[in-house]
Amino acid sequence: MKPKEITLNTLHNTLEIDTDEQDIDFIGDEHISTSADTPMRADAFDITDDEKIARISYHFREIMETLGLDLTDDSLKGTPKRVAKMYVKEIFSGLNPENKPDIALFDNKYKYGKMLVEKNITLYSNCEHHFVPIYGRAHIGYISGGKVIGLSKLNRIVQYYAKRPQVQERLTVQIARELQKMLDTEDVAILIDARHMCVSSRGITDTNSATVSCFYGGKFAEEATKNEFLRYVELDTDY
Ligand SMILES: [Zn+2]
Repeated sequence: MKPKEITLNTLHNTLEIDTDEQDIDFIGDEHISTSADTPMRADAFDITDDEKIARISYHFREIMETLGLDLTDDSLKGTPKRVAKMYVKEIFSGLNPENKPDIALFDNKYKYGKMLVEKNITLYSNCEHHFVPIYGRAHIGYISGGKVIGLSKLNRIVQYYAKRPQVQERLTVQIARELQKMLDTEDVAILIDARHMCVSSRGITDTNSATVSCFYGGKFAEEATKNEFLRYVELDTDY
C-alpha cells in the first residue's frame, strides 16, 4: 500500500512527511507543528476549570505513584493539586478564549505613521511535545493603519498565546494573526528568540542553541522596512 503523506506547513518551509516513518520522537525532537491553530477538542470547555483541576490532580497523582513516589510524604502530597491548578489557571490558561485579554484600541490622533517597536517582551511558554518550558523574548513591530494599541497590551497578547502548549512557529503566527486582525493592518512584524528546555535539559542536551522565528507581514516584507525593524531590535537598551 502506498504510504500516506501529510504536508506540514511551517513558517519557513514545507515538509513532506511519510506517515509510515513518522514516530513520536521524530515529531517531538524535530519540533513540528501541524497547524497554525492550536489543535483543540470540540468538547474542550464542556467542563469547568474546577472539574479540570480535579481530573488533572487525580491523573497527576497516578503519574507520580507510577513513578514510585510516596504521596504520603509531606513534601509531595500537595503536588498533584498544585500542578493541576498551575496548568489550568496559569501556564495553560491561554487555551480558554475566556482568558483572552480585553484590548482597547485608540485612534492614532498624533498621526504617527512610522513603525512602533516593542522589544524584549518576556516570554514563557511550554513545548507541546514534552511539556517543559520555552523561555525567551518576543519583539513586535507594527505600523498603525489608523489604530494604536496600549504598549502593555502587546505583552498581554504574547502572554495569552504563550500560555498554551506550543511550538515556537505556531506561537509566532498566532500572535501575528491576532495583531493583524486587531490593528486592522497587514503591517506587523514579530521576532521570537527563545530557548527550549527540551533541547537543553534532555534529548540532545544543547545548552547553547537558541531558536529564532519570525513573521513579516505587509510592509515588513519589504527589505528596507524589515531591516529597520531588525536594527531597532538590535539597539542596545541596556540603560
Ligand atoms: Zn519539546
